[in-house]
Order: sequence, then C-alpha cells, then structure tokens
Amino acid sequence: MSEKGVSGSDGAKRIPAIIEASGVRKSYDSGDVKVNALKGLDLDIAKGEMVAVMGPSGCGKTTLLNCLSGLDEADDGEIVIEGESIVGMSDRKRTRFRAERMGFIFQSYNLMPVLSATENVELPLLVAGVRPKKAHKLALAALEMVGLADQARKRPAQMSGGQQQRVTVARSLVNEPAIVWADEPTGALDSETSKEIMDLLVRLNRTQKQTFVLVTHDPAVAKRGHRIIRMRDGEVESEEKNAGTEDLSNVGARIETNAEAYGSSNAGKN
Ligand code: ADP
Ligand code: MG
Repeated sequence: MSEKGVSGSDGAKRIPAIIEASGVRKSYDSGDVKVNALKGLDLDIAKGEMVAVMGPSGCGKTTLLNCLSGLDEADDGEIVIEGESIVGMSDRKRTRFRAERMGFIFQSYNLMPVLSATENVELPLLVAGVRPKKAHKLALAALEMVGLADQARKRPAQMSGGQQQRVTVARSLVNEPAIVWADEPTGALDSETSKEIMDLLVRLNRTQKQTFVLVTHDPAVAKRGHRIIRMRDGEVESEEKNAGTEDLSNVGARIETNAEAYGSSNAGKN
C-alpha cells in the first residue's frame, strides 16, 4: 500500500491521499475522430479536502470525475481510492464500492419526479440493501441536515431549484460517503441560491469530514474549497491553494499513512 500523501500547509505533515490518480488516460471514439479527453493525468487529493476543478468547457472535467469515481472506466493509469485500486475491480465490486463510499451531486438534479423528497433520498440506501424502515429514518435525518425537514413529502416539481438541489445533497450524503463528487452542482442556480448550496457543502465538508471534488465554472464557488485544480486539454495545468481556508492538517485525520488509514476499514468489504 502506498504511503503517498498530500502535504498540509505547514509543508511537513502528511495527510493520507484518499484519491491517488496517476497516468490516467481516457479517449472517446466518435466516428473517425478520436478525442483524447484525459492525457495521462496525475492527481492526489487528501482526506477531508474540498477541491474545486476548473477549466474550459470540453477540457475533461466530467470525464475526470467519471473515471476517478468509477462511473466510467479509464483506458490506462492507476486510480487508488481509500487505498484500493478501482482499476482492476470487477464491475460488481466497483458498483458496490461506489454505493457504500461515494455520493454524487449533478447540475441537473436527477431526482425522480414521481417520488417525494424523502423517497428520493431513500433510494441509494435501498439500492445498497438497507432495510426500508432504517432507510426512511436516515433519509429524514439527511433532509433535516440540509434544512428540508418540512419539505419531506413534496415532490421535486413542488420545490424550488435550490430546494431540489438540497434534496440531491441530502441524497448524496445519506450513506455517509467518504467522497462526494459534484459536477457543476450550482450550475443551474442563481448566485444567491448557489451561495446557499455552497454554504451547505462547506459546512458538511468541515463537520462531516467528507472529501469533496467539485467541478465548477464559478470562481466564487471555487474559492470556497481548500484548493483549485485547473485543467486544460485533458491535463492538470496548474493548481493553487486558497488562502483563508482551514488548515488541512486540522481537517484530515491525524493518521500518517494510507495503510493505517484504510487497512482495517476496508477489511471484510469485499
Ligand atoms: P468538460 O466536462 O470539461 O466540459 P468532458 O469531460 O465532458 O469536458 O469532455 C472532454 C472531451 O471529451 C470533449 O472534447 C468531449 O466532446 C469529449 N467527450 C466527452 N464524453 C464523450 C462521449 N461520451 N463520446 C465522445 N466524446 C466525448
Ligand atoms: Mg462537464
């Protein structure tokens, strides 16, 4: 198991990398044109970090999220999440790993229109095999956490855009994932509602210690995270730390290596 980590702002302390990606390649064949969407990308993200991914349309941000989260398969490279390589994993195991360890928030809310807020939030739990009664309880708690306890019985069409996005935040967090992937989560929201959703995500990142990887076009959104990764043409072009965000050594667990961090927690999860 690797002992790579990401340096805290004091430069010395190593925080375990919850996501370690190296040499990740992905291309698409559409007709006779081959698009190289990711060109051997390297990226480490620390446990508890909130990272914003920025870059022009078409530079590979969504492809990166899809490959790192295992929604899609990279053509080449290594991707290690919580100390486990997801590249060699069987589809079944990867799906399970995603269901247990990851949450997703997209720009389009992807809520089921015929289901209530609670039922939408219950869904990933039921898929993961949680008993209905327990799923219901957890869903209500998650809705409460995002300030929507009083909207629990409403259907998406009866809620505002901001409320719908809060339902998807509740849904992404209900399984207490280690990592939340968000692809332009505020892209469809006005600036005030966008700020409200970001306040919520930042609060959850700081209190629940989840790692967030957030694609955004909005500099105001990006600067709320610990770090901004800028992509261009399928590669990381540059990155910068955001001043004024909490020192990562306080956010990450006080664990020195990935072996310690993930060695025992992954036992029996196969
Ligand atoms: P971004 O999210 O940064 O806008 P994407 O990751 O969606 O960029 O796309 C990266 C490149 O890959 C673009 O050139 C896009 O047209 C291409 N691409 C993405 N998905 C597909 C697909 N399913 N089939 C063919 N080309 C694709
Ligand atoms: Mg995209």
